[in-house]
Amino acid sequence: MPGFELFGEAEKSQVQDVLDSGVLMRYGFDGMRNGHWKAKELEKAIAERMQTKYAQVLSSGTAALTVALQAAGIGAGDEVIMPTFTFVASFESILAIGAIPVLVDIDDTLTLDPLAVEQAITPKTKVVMPVHMCGSMADLAALKAICTRHNLLLLEDACQAIGGTYEGRPLGSYGDLGCFSFDFVKTITCGEGGALITNNEAYYKNADHYSDHGHDHVGSDRGAETHPFLGYNFRISELNAAVGCAQVQRLDEFIAIQKEHYSIFRYALTGIKGVTFRRVPKGGVENYSFLNFFLPTEELARKVHAKLNEVGVDACFYWYDNNWHYYRKWQHLTNLKTLGRFPQEIINGLPNYSTADFSRSDVWMGRTISSLVKLSWTKEEVEKRAQQMAQVITDVLRDI
Ligand SMILES: *Cc1c(COP(=O)(O)O)cnc(C)c1O
Repeated sequence: MPGFELFGEAEKSQVQDVLDSGVLMRYGFDGMRNGHWKAKELEKAIAERMQTKYAQVLSSGTAALTVALQAAGIGAGDEVIMPTFTFVASFESILAIGAIPVLVDIDDTLTLDPLAVEQAITPKTKVVMPVHMCGSMADLAALKAICTRHNLLLLEDACQAIGGTYEGRPLGSYGDLGCFSFDFVKTITCGEGGALITNNEAYYKNADHYSDHGHDHVGSDRGAETHPFLGYNFRISELNAAVGCAQVQRLDEFIAIQKEHYSIFRYALTGIKGVTFRRVPKGGVENYSFLNFFLPTEELARKVHAKLNEVGVDACFYWYDNNWHYYRKWQHLTNLKTLGRFPQEIINGLPNYSTADFSRSDVWMGRTISSLVKLSWTKEEVEKRAQQMAQVITDVLRDI
């Protein structure tokens, strides 16, 4: 997955442009910048590639989620439905605006189960936030139908699946708003960075102003600009955006490499009795950043994972035990461990997660292993890895 593996001349040359002018900020200083507007250029490239009217580049993926929620008018006490399997950024962005993260079970897509989503809707629900984890997507048609029926927003977290598609449309562009991360380990990187995309002009304008202290960005004198509403600073720097300008041009090249490697792993594991693959919803195409597969039981998944580590097959994840990506280890959320006192709306509204039953998620997560698909592996390395994975799994499953 990580774009940093293929950092090269194009990235350096983009950064050099910024260093040559010395304008490290995305707004203002028009005369000094030699025509370089890296953040704006990146926004244009992202909107074009993702086939949306608007893109707003931000300081991180977490910032993108936070700004997307604010831009759509979500606030204190509103409920946002999110999956039990995701990165902690999902609930961080929801809590940051005083809203309530409502955790909901996943199914064999490893993302939101539409039936469980429908059951979790209350009069306070405002947003459904599917997270397209590990390269593949949620059942977006089913989720959109639910959102339409209940008048809810669909906000796609496509941070781990950039470049994948659903019904022929880029992931992130199907919902009302979509978010990407360009942190150091994502498919394309800015070092740190993120973006939101939308076709809704009001949301875009809100995002543009909100992420820069409420600046309305009218005219060319920053000091004279007005502030129609309160904002914050979620700006990206020109240096980071410059890296993104080079990386976004390489997205399709990266995905082609991932697909090639993924296909070799998939072929090697197909047909091993007891191995099944994560379901990709009808109409979906992965971005191939991970190969995700199920073993018959939790015990066997643990055995296979341990054995893979033992023989040196690195970058295989057993998310069920992971501190950052699965609800079981989110005790800081469960116990609401905060530095200062949180808004009363959150304290009152947060479900009691210490007694919640997510056994329907456990059934899938406990049996899942995810193999990262790296860009820098040689064909020989990929083939050796595929063969080792197949061997380990076959050995473990032989006795069942
Ligand atoms: C990486 C990631 C984020 C957050 O992105 P940052 O740029 O690291 O803040 C959000 N959601 C998911 C699913 C991610 O993988």
